[in-house]
Amino acid sequence: MQLIDIGANLTHPAFHADLPDVLARAKQAGVTTIVVTGTSVPESTSALKFAGEHSEVYSTAGVHPHHARECDPSTIPALRILAQQARVVAVGECGLDFNRNYSPHPDQEKWFVAQLELGLQLGKPLFLHSRDAHPRFAQILKTHRVRNAVAHCFTGEREELEAYLDLGLYIGVTGWICDERRGKHLLELVREIPRDRLLLETDAPYLTPRDLKPQPKARRNEPAYLPHILRAVARALGRAPEEIAAETTRNATTLFGLHESGSSAAAQRPLAA
Ligand SMILES: [Zn+2]
Repeated sequence: MQLIDIGANLTHPAFHADLPDVLARAKQAGVTTIVVTGTSVPESTSALKFAGEHSEVYSTAGVHPHHARECDPSTIPALRILAQQARVVAVGECGLDFNRNYSPHPDQEKWFVAQLELGLQLGKPLFLHSRDAHPRFAQILKTHRVRNAVAHCFTGEREELEAYLDLGLYIGVTGWICDERRGKHLLELVREIPRDRLLLETDAPYLTPRDLKPQPKARRNEPAYLPHILRAVARALGRAPEEIAAETTRNATTLFGLHESGSSAAAQRPLAA
């Protein structure tokens, strides 16, 4: 079984002390590819450096909406250079976060749109973050005709999911689905996601699955726990984990244009994609 963690924040300080062990455990668990999320220009730079050092790691280049207020005229040129590197597979994470509101909404929208335009110009997929920002978020995507993208860490309600699926987005599911307090609705909603649109991610070190036993030290999440999320999704769908693993790996390979030599996923990638 091979899995791709499409969103792990491995440049986070929580991983500074033992990153080689984290990668080894991921491999052991069947997580053969990890896309490290870039959340600011410096973090995206570190993520790319890390990807360059490990054949199983790719990265994204973007500015999280929390950091929108720190953006300036140098931001997009810097992201443009990063996003053109071969191991950077997406622009983002970018989007809107009206939950924490660490940056004013006008700043969030301005830099979200600027990153959408960058992704579209470069023909790179977008790695999207949205929290409590429906329907504004979907409106912006629609206006800009964004299709080649993943709504990462989907936690919303049915209407929001339908809006994303109508736009043709991929949907990233995290360990949120393992949370019996706030993720219960996802057990039902995940069934609405077409088989060719589902992606899996840990969002490590955040969102440690609440039903993971024993809970890891300092409750730190890591890519090795992705099979736990896979099994929760498989149970919700009433299907075999192996099938979901194969489908989600193929989807991630298609979206991010990952060419894994010898893998069936690469062989089955449609020529026109
Ligand atoms: Zn996010």
